[in-house]
Amino acid sequence: MPKPTKAELNKYRKLLMARLSVLKGDVGSMREEALQASEQDASVDHLGDHGSDNYDQAFLLGLIENEEETIGLIEEALDRIDGKGEWAYGACPMCLEEAEEGRMKKGDVWIPKARLEYLPEARYCVRHKEEEERRESA
Ligand SMILES: [Zn+2]
Repeated sequence: MPKPTKAELNKYRKLLMARLSVLKGDVGSMREEALQASEQDASVDHLGDHGSDNYDQAFLLGLIENEEETIGLIEEALDRIDGKGEWAYGACPMCLEEAEEGRMKKGDVWIPKARLEYLPEARYCVRHKEEEERRESA
């Protein structure tokens, strides 16, 4: 897998910026909705009194949290495209580690283009993403 070219980096930057503005808009309107739900229900801090409202609000807050996590990943990816991150954009940090230890060829650390086009904020290659998920659920 070759290193991303300048033109490719520009394309990923555009994809990331577009995703970022959509997500920021989403989070903004979900926050408003969650706020409205709590204003309508003055006793929202008495948990359990209004089960379903609280459930909706918890659900919204969960969604907001997920989206904020993605926003964080996107902002980090954009920094790495600009050379301000901890490692080069498009490389998998775990592969970089393996390459450093001589367990992998230096040229093999780049995440495949198809994956970046689908998920431009991806930090890891598929293999390491799966390893990470296994570790998290263990
Ligand atoms: Zn990897």
